[in-house]
Amino acid sequence: MTGSSLKTASAVFLWPNESTAVIVAVIWGLVLFFWIIAIVWTTKDSNARTQSIIKQFWYIILVTIWWPIIGLPLYIALRPARYREKYEWWQSQNAAICLSCGHRNNPHHTHCVFCGEKIHIKCRECHQPYPASYAYCPECGAPNIDQLLKENR
Ligand SMILES: [Zn+2]
Ligand SMILES: [Zn+2]
Repeated sequence: MTGSSLKTASAVFLWPNESTAVIVAVIWGLVLFFWIIAIVWTTKDSNARTQSIIKQFWYIILVTIWWPIIGLPLYIALRPARYREKYEWWQSQNAAICLSCGHRNNPHHTHCVFCGEKIHIKCRECHQPYPASYAYCPECGAPNIDQLLKENR
């Protein structure tokens, strides 16, 4: 190593001896490792945030082309703010679940779009129709007697 210390930095990279070649290989290995981890993480994270395969594809391409240093901050800035799972949970809280087939329906529909079964009942107190899967009437708060009887059966 005494001879190589006299060489300029560019000379080391142009004519690397054995030990500098190892260091360069290790650095490249680390960069490649970080790169692959970033791509794997982006694949998982974008899948948890969006249902669109096309969007996921572009996020992965972004990180792959721009490298983790530029690609990752860009991805974090552009990705959807919330997880898909949480949005689906939120949706399920407001959906009318068909008591016949168990599918989720738009609460404004009167019949299940999957099996044709009626999904609305009339409140016994205020006579407003609401989804049969709701535990309480959204208009007056009266308990859904039919649903309670079904659950306790
Ligand atoms: Zn149904
Ligand atoms: Zn009511």
